[in-house]
Amino acid sequence: MPQLTRIYLDHAATTAVDPRVLKAMLPYWTEHYGNPASLYDQGRGAAEGLNRARKQVAGILGCNDNEIVFTSCGTESDNLAIRGVTTALRRKGKHIITTTIEHHAILRTCEQLEQLDGYKVTYLPVDAMGMVDPDDVRKAIRPDTVLISVMYANNEIGTIQPIAEIGAIARKAGVVFHTDAVQAGGSLPLDVDQLNVDLLSLSGHKFYAPKGVGVLYIRRGTPIVPIQTGGGQERGMRAGTSNVPYIVGLGEALVLAHQDREQEQARLAALRDRLIKGVLTSVPDSCLNGHPTQRLANNANFIFAGIEGEAVQMKLDWAGIACGTGSACASEDDEPSHVLVACGIKKLLSRASIRFTLGRENTEIDVDRVIEILPPIVQGIRDLSPIYRIGMLS
Ligand SMILES: *Cc1c(COP(=O)(O)O)cnc(C)c1O
Repeated sequence: MPQLTRIYLDHAATTAVDPRVLKAMLPYWTEHYGNPASLYDQGRGAAEGLNRARKQVAGILGCNDNEIVFTSCGTESDNLAIRGVTTALRRKGKHIITTTIEHHAILRTCEQLEQLDGYKVTYLPVDAMGMVDPDDVRKAIRPDTVLISVMYANNEIGTIQPIAEIGAIARKAGVVFHTDAVQAGGSLPLDVDQLNVDLLSLSGHKFYAPKGVGVLYIRRGTPIVPIQTGGGQERGMRAGTSNVPYIVGLGEALVLAHQDREQEQARLAALRDRLIKGVLTSVPDSCLNGHPTQRLANNANFIFAGIEGEAVQMKLDWAGIACGTGSACASEDDEPSHVLVACGIKKLLSRASIRFTLGRENTEIDVDRVIEILPPIVQGIRDLSPIYRIGMLS
């Protein structure tokens, strides 16, 4: 059999490091290897890289350099936002508002605060397309509410939330507002004033920087205390010697993603729509999850009734195509996707989801290959599925 070129369609899980990003990073291991806090040459070189990255990120977010905190990942940024703000405001109250469709970095953190520290958390519902109603946010605010956290775009179904509107509600009520923008980092506008956010999380590996580096934007004056204490790095907000090469890579990658953002997102949206149309017309009993228009340009998430998402994923892998399943992040407990369940999809059906997320290197050829190869794979699995054959789900 001829060797197939592999097609990667799981950019919501992670992305490859862009060669231009890698090139920018390399001198920071070998030449500018000093501690950025040291005053001699090697340290100055590292400090310059760190400062440049901070300026690059602040430029894209439209904020001051000193409002940017570099972290080790998106998960850490989310933890710092939630734990840092709630700890600072523990005497004001112990109520948090978030949503049922957040990433586990938010949900598990909130759950722990409930279990160990007596916090009350309101998990807002979403509609069938995964959309939060800003009015629900308004109604959930109480005198003891200390933090609202709503994600910018969902990692499974791609639904984009009305962040600016929710932010305006939070500000009027005087409640701190955080958004997990990890999935939106390279694809949506990030101006923190237009978004009305006080805190915003990013992760490098979702926009062609390496895994293991993140950002938390913290608006000046936001009540927050560090959760990792030690040396005074990141103005005391995140102790630990900075991962200079990775931070340099993140800054470079964010600039690259935003310099041709609109053009690239339009290209991806056209590919996504081609994929959605092709799949829905060629696979019977299939449907699209998430919002038809308010969705990330690179996200197409489907349900194929009567099958397990993992089975399709495995067969696509054999055919050289990498994609995600709805339950990817929860695979350790084998639970159906909490996001699809929140959208009102029955548990059995929610296990039948497949997520394709496009990226910079994908072309029409890749999309057409999926449309060609997917229908017989789904049919083959269904032929072996008694549930599907007796028509329980169709
Ligand atoms: C990937 C992701 C995270 C976690 O980021 P890491 O850098 O992998 O820790 C958090 N939230 C969302 C929405 C994500 O997609």
